[in-house]
Amino acid sequence: MYYGTVPIIIKSSKFIYFKKDRLLKLIKEKNNYKTKNKMENIKMSEFQEQLDKVEKFHGHLCGGIVMGTKMTMLAMKELGFNLNEPTKDLVVFVEIGRCMADAVQVVSGCTLGKGSLNLLDYGRFAGTFLKISTGEAVRITDMDIQTQVPGESKEELIERLTNTSNDVLFRIEKVRVRLREGDLPGHSSDNKIVCPICGEIVKDNQHIIQNGVAYCKACVVESYYEKLD
Ligand SMILES: [Zn+2]
Ligand SMILES: [Zn+2]
Repeated sequence: MYYGTVPIIIKSSKFIYFKKDRLLKLIKEKNNYKTKNKMENIKMSEFQEQLDKVEKFHGHLCGGIVMGTKMTMLAMKELGFNLNEPTKDLVVFVEIGRCMADAVQVVSGCTLGKGSLNLLDYGRFAGTFLKISTGEAVRITDMDIQTQVPGESKEELIERLTNTSNDVLFRIEKVRVRLREGDLPGHSSDNKIVCPICGEIVKDNQHIIQNGVAYCKACVVESYYEKLD
């Protein structure tokens, strides 16, 4: 049903070409699926083990955690980290505060509280994984095939994403992370300033300097709240 409906939905001719291309890739992928799955039995069981942990933490099974689990497993493999072995050498930056972020946390073992998981809410389905000791980093984004298509149930979506290989699901690129002191895990630094506008303390070098004066971001950039009195 899925493959049949896609060309009808898309109107723009440029888009048709793009979608057809992707469609052909998907069909090819589907044809290869059985063989691949047989070859990747061990990986599939590893994936299932991680996904079960994530589902328990997240509270439900969804496309987002399937993608997040696969993405994190891929990144850890690329950087030479073993699953189920917590490390202090890994820092992750996620670019969306949705389901996927829970999968990243559970599979990588990185958390907000440890300072090893950073949320930069750009609204993009992407994560960057940094190996601190070497500076190696990979940024992984999705190829936009995780959206539920008309006629596809949630269960079918989960199955499709589970059975699609990483090279179809993701784009992976090597990047250099511009690390600031406050981005590294561990105890917060002793370095702190007092914002002259709100009078609150800012730690971890998260202040902004304007005309030689250090302020908190909420006062001079953007605040997510407004005071009522
Ligand atoms: Zn979810
Ligand atoms: Zn302030």
